[in-house]
Amino acid sequence: MNYQYWHPKMETLPRPELEAWQLARLKDMITYALRTPFYKERLTRVGIRGAEDIKSLDDIKRIPFTTKHDLREAFPYGMLSVPLEDVIRLHASSGTTGTPTTIYFNRQDIGRWSGFVARCIYGTGCNRTDVFQNMISYGLFTGGLGFHAGGEEIGMLVIPSGSGNTTRQFKLMQDFGTTVVHATPSFLLHVESRMKEEGVSRDSISLKRAFAGAEPYSEDTRRRIEELLHIDVYNSYGLSEMSGPGVAFECQAKNGLHLWEDGYIAEIVDPETLEPVPEGEIGELVLTILCREATPILRYRTRDLSGFYPDPCPCGRTHRRLRRITGRTDDMLIINGVNLFPSQIEEVIMGIREVGNNYLIVVEKDGSLDRLTVKTEVGPDIFMDDARPLNALREKIRKTLQALITINPRVELHESGSLPVSEGKAKRVQDNRSKDV
Ligand code: AMP
Ligand code: ZN
Repeated sequence: MNYQYWHPKMETLPRPELEAWQLARLKDMITYALRTPFYKERLTRVGIRGAEDIKSLDDIKRIPFTTKHDLREAFPYGMLSVPLEDVIRLHASSGTTGTPTTIYFNRQDIGRWSGFVARCIYGTGCNRTDVFQNMISYGLFTGGLGFHAGGEEIGMLVIPSGSGNTTRQFKLMQDFGTTVVHATPSFLLHVESRMKEEGVSRDSISLKRAFAGAEPYSEDTRRRIEELLHIDVYNSYGLSEMSGPGVAFECQAKNGLHLWEDGYIAEIVDPETLEPVPEGEIGELVLTILCREATPILRYRTRDLSGFYPDPCPCGRTHRRLRRITGRTDDMLIINGVNLFPSQIEEVIMGIREVGNNYLIVVEKDGSLDRLTVKTEVGPDIFMDDARPLNALREKIRKTLQALITINPRVELHESGSLPVSEGKAKRVQDNRSKDV
């Protein structure tokens, strides 16, 4: 394969030079951080009074972790490190797990950020001849404007279609010959189901690729989208605290997400002990941003679970590859004492061909016990008025799930298009247990 680089020098920088770069940028970040009320207190407490107190990359371990709670405490301006007149934009997290947090950008920060996103997009084989439809919400959420700027930097024609309004999305694809889209994986599946329902033929659109991210999804879901839409799907990882998209992305080898180590320092720690896990093992991803002056966030506990692949990538990039993020430390469900991540359920049901494109996990109290119900839509080949295949499918899903998760779930089958679809990140879990007591 002919791999293409947007920034050949930085993407293939030998490790020793990459680490020297990281150290220099980390020192800069310390200088900026010490200008914020929050970090001034935090860093001086551990004896870091200036950039000169950081002598090697290993010194990062002296810096206390930053959590979402800290960001909320510092709201609105406690982590701002430049005068307000130098700030040109703010973004906020979508508040998946509570009230939003805010980050600020100066002009250079915006420029660097688009550079990283451009690098991600270009690395999947796109170029300025592509027509890019950005089917994700614009606004405080970083995915809209972040991808938009990256696409423009490459010189693609960017269509800021935003999320939702599925019928209009096909129309735009047909009218302008869209070749690449960005969306959540759940929205891509929804688009595919709706295309079938509305009789839109695959031949009427020119789609080749999709960037899918903002929420966890399994390899089976990727394969399903690729097969149904006949496109290549690339995993995109980011979070608003680290400026949003552009943190880690798959290259054409599609095996792990290159984390841009000239922009971010990554650590993988045990979420309990907060000590580093052995190389290659899974733990909580901790990130330090190196490419944003206006809000320098150091050692941020993302809560996302991942690890690094130990071997180099065939594409020749020197930046390490993250494993697909399977979930967050805070989305683990405990059902009758058994620990379970929603991604384990997704992996099973998306691997079953007769299952449709949408599902929902419901947990309730049943007396003193917990009850797990998995609701899935059925695929287009299954008819809701024919009981035999429905019963067989229900049993197949139940048995496969039980074998893997050791919990016996209730399985409900629903007609295609009948389960709720969210315009942003999919809400896959309804935990009603606290409401029941
Ligand atoms: P936000 O700050 O609203 O952009 O949300 C960021 C969070 O979305 C991350 O911390 C992850 O939990 C999740 N996320 C984003 N991209 C991915 C991805 N490709 N795979 C799994 N989870 C993701
Ligand atoms: Zn690669």
